[in-house]
Amino acid sequence: MSTTYVDLSHTLDEDVQIYPGDPAFSCCPVLTVEKDGLNVHSISMGSHTGTHVDAPYHFFASGAQIDAMPLSAFIGNAVVVEVSNKKAKEMITCEDISPYSESIRRKAAQEHGVFVLLHTGWSRHWRSDLYFEHPFLTRDAAQHLIDLGVKLIGVDTLSPDETRVDGSTPDFGVHELVLGAGAVLAENLTNLGAIRTGDWCVNLIPLKLKGCDGSPVRAFAYRAPN
Ligand SMILES: [Zn+2]
Repeated sequence: MSTTYVDLSHTLDEDVQIYPGDPAFSCCPVLTVEKDGLNVHSISMGSHTGTHVDAPYHFFASGAQIDAMPLSAFIGNAVVVEVSNKKAKEMITCEDISPYSESIRRKAAQEHGVFVLLHTGWSRHWRSDLYFEHPFLTRDAAQHLIDLGVKLIGVDTLSPDETRVDGSTPDFGVHELVLGAGAVLAENLTNLGAIRTGDWCVNLIPLKLKGCDGSPVRAFAYRAPN
């Protein structure tokens, strides 16, 4: 029987939507088959480009760095929280999470533990200005998820916190709470609607970047073995 893999990653290209102030992305040929007999590209990007994970070191000088974290931190059983009814800048609250509490608790106790993935559907606005106006998680809801034993919270938006493009000081309350608890965040996921039902295992394996605060990942899901 063949395994179905669901790709949860955005394609990285020059139009990739970057968090305000983060470095630009480029992937350019430096050697080519025509001139040099082989193709080699030079890649430049920030550590939070495209679909990626945040390590605790992102917000905490003494937090875990991406290369020091075990692979098990990036493999988990998914609970997809359906919040695709949320409008621009609307908050995702404890009330939205509570119908899933029991299944989160159950999967947290299983091998690989539990990832909670918030399906806002906002990935459909990827590459448009509306992408910055995404729904976001309240601190209370994030705390509730941590209390339930969640080891990773993933969003199909730019951030689990509100993103501000007007230059005002952003509130990183959810980042601070989740990363401060030693858990991981995943951002700019896509295609979460495809794993809404059934049992899925999700892999979000980062590059082994020494001393780094995050890494782009190739995010994917497959049916969890029974
Ligand atoms: Zn990030």
